[in-house]
Amino acid sequence: MSTNQNYNPVKLGIILPCYNEEAILNYSAENLKAEVQKLIQKKLLANDSFICFVDDGSKDKTWQIIETLVNTDKLFKGIKLSTNFGHQNALIAGMFSLKHSADCLITIDADLQDDITVIEEMVNHYNLGSKIVYGVRDNRENDSFFKKFTAQTFYKLMQGMKVRTVYNHADFRLADKVVIEHLEQFGEVSLFLRGIFPLIGFSSSSVYYKRNKRIAGETKYPFHKMLSFAWKGITSFSTAPLRLIFYIGIIMFFLSVGLGIWVVISMLTGKTIQGWASTLLLNLTFSGINMVCLGIIGEYVGKIYQEVKNRPRFIIEKKI
Ligand code: UDP
Ligand code: MG
Repeated sequence: MSTNQNYNPVKLGIILPCYNEEAILNYSAENLKAEVQKLIQKKLLANDSFICFVDDGSKDKTWQIIETLVNTDKLFKGIKLSTNFGHQNALIAGMFSLKHSADCLITIDADLQDDITVIEEMVNHYNLGSKIVYGVRDNRENDSFFKKFTAQTFYKLMQGMKVRTVYNHADFRLADKVVIEHLEQFGEVSLFLRGIFPLIGFSSSSVYYKRNKRIAGETKYPFHKMLSFAWKGITSFSTAPLRLIFYIGIIMFFLSVGLGIWVVISMLTGKTIQGWASTLLLNLTFSGINMVCLGIIGEYVGKIYQEVKNRPRFIIEKKI
């Protein structure tokens, strides 16, 4: 990757969503500050770059720590949400409020499990023209078997349903302020960022890193939250589950025709007791028809869902 010699220093904003992170916040602030100062010295970053903590309605001392940090160093900023809105909304709050304060923004988890030393590479990619730079974990040896398994099943499922996602990329990414402006045009309330960014387009690239263990505090994504997050991702992007009902309906319908023939033959050859054939036939026919009808309704619900999202139909990058 080329160096920064030909480029103006980039004004970078780093956004960290924090939910009950008192155990790790000072450590993260200190490390990130050292990294940013190093890059400012290298003239890669402008000296008015900043680090902003978004307190997502923490119940512990997170906000007090943020206040102290902001008071001691102008590098730090803080945003406090009124209650817990969740990781994705905390990121969105940070990005939307700060898009005019920087050339580009990086989002990263407050526990710094993602490798901050690749920030330099991200900014280099940005200087070379990438509007979005994805941080991608190329190694999960620090994750438990369970986390690895569930996460990778999720990415594969998303790929299978043709949702554009970047494999093994979470929410560690750099985005140009122009990209954030376009992101704001996506009207849906439930924004699943990992799926939206690839939809926005523009030239993008990836940097690869090894993910570390959380060194203090606990994960804020216990299993049930992970599951609901994955479900949100799938249902925010894909109508595949709805279409599945339709396919099952068709299969059931043909199955019931086949079974129906068998029932009639059994009845005609006198192998049945009275009432069996008619009951079964009615049952088979109507459950088949029912499923197909549900599938048709599903198709329309799917259309409504696409319309309600009110996503932009296109995004123009340049006009000449
Ligand atoms: N987080 C948040 N709001 C929430 C849950 C989590 O802002 O409701 C933040 C959290 O403070 C952390 C990031 O989201 O900065 C990711 O959470 P965590 O590190 O616990 O997830 P994991 O790495 O275990 O998947
Ligand atoms: Mg973490």
